Amino acid sequence: MSTLPHERIDVPLPPRPYTVEIGAGHLGRLSSLLDAAGVGRRRIVVSSPTVWKLHGEAVSAALPDAPVIHIPDGERHKHLKTVARIYDALVTQQIDRGAALVGVGGGVLGDVTGFAAATYLRGIDIVHVPSTLLAQVDSAIGGKVGVNHPLGKNLIGAFHQPRLVVIDPTLVATLPRREFRAGLYEIVKYGMTSSRALFDRVAGSVKDLFKRDPEALQPVIAASCAIKADVVSRDERESGPRRVLNFGHTAGHALEAITRYKRFRHGEAVGYGMLVAAEVAAGRGRLAEADRERLFTLIRRLGPLPAIADLSMDDMIDAMRRDKKVVNGRLHYVLATSVGEHEIVDDVSEGELREALRRVGFRAS
Ligand code: NAD
Repeated sequence: MSTLPHERIDVPLPPRPYTVEIGAGHLGRLSSLLDAAGVGRRRIVVSSPTVWKLHGEAVSAALPDAPVIHIPDGERHKHLKTVARIYDALVTQQIDRGAALVGVGGGVLGDVTGFAAATYLRGIDIVHVPSTLLAQVDSAIGGKVGVNHPLGKNLIGAFHQPRLVVIDPTLVATLPRREFRAGLYEIVKYGMTSSRALFDRVAGSVKDLFKRDPEALQPVIAASCAIKADVVSRDERESGPRRVLNFGHTAGHALEAITRYKRFRHGEAVGYGMLVAAEVAAGRGRLAEADRERLFTLIRRLGPLPAIADLSMDDMIDAMRRDKKVVNGRLHYVLATSVGEHEIVDDVSEGELREALRRVGFRAS
């Protein structure tokens, strides 16, 4: 068990600031953490069969009186019908406004449960207990909740900040290696744009991270959460500073879209997206060759990433043009300017993008 002290990160968002509690073994302390945060007397756990099989016993031991709602997770269940299953259970059990949902699961479960909480009785409390690395460092913080529409990802949603986020780094011990790796790429994103110290820590502890050693995991999870908390509390609705979180996401989203969300985990696509962004920055002289190489080396060490040699640049460019980061016809692009620094530009030309895509290994036509 970890000897590290627990960490607490504040998310000072008005009107109701909240905290992110991080510590190995926190799942077993859920009840006292909820009490300390003043979270509703009635708590309803929402989880998925996969997560429940692995961690349900520990959750039940921590919250023995809480009813449990099971919903399927995975991207193909991220739709309104799954939200309706939560509503049905809440109505049947006559859950009132004073209750809180406690979502124990990955990013899909958190987004779906958060959306149910945002809309049931016009809003009840949600507590996130993220169980994937991606959810721990990203989706559990910031209040974006929602589901997919058959015509597009995350098209239906709301901003609904949690009352509390409880992160237990030991939960990711059971994650399939590929899911774990997908979360690591998001951590690299925070390091590359905002913290050289975080980037160096990841690069210096790859082996221990893959061993899922909580002593290695907790500091990088906490550093990532601190960056996300800082960014979202300065810009809850993504009009300015929050855009930095899109580093690697322009080409990443395009890559997911042209492969119909089947070939890549989101984090893997972001891995490639960061390489493309680094090539764009290097190509215009904004990122030193040595820093570009450091990013490439780290991403390679965390790999392997699925192949892209059969994917065409034209399809990538088309998909990027449809990106929601296009404002008034101009694509807002986050570039890293050194390890730990970034800038947001809106003048990346198609020629620059093509050259960057070519260098990363996409097919020429
Ligand atoms: P996921 O929720 O689909 O989980 C991946 C898989 O891991 C699932 O099969 C799940 O059952 C399983 N799993 C979860 N915890 C586990 C554990 N501890 N051990 C073993 N298996 C476990 O995927 P994800 O990567 O966590 O989340 C992706 C989703 O997050 C996407 O829908 C994306 O849109 C969303 N997201 C939201 C935000 C936000 O700000 N709200 C940010 C980033 C991503």
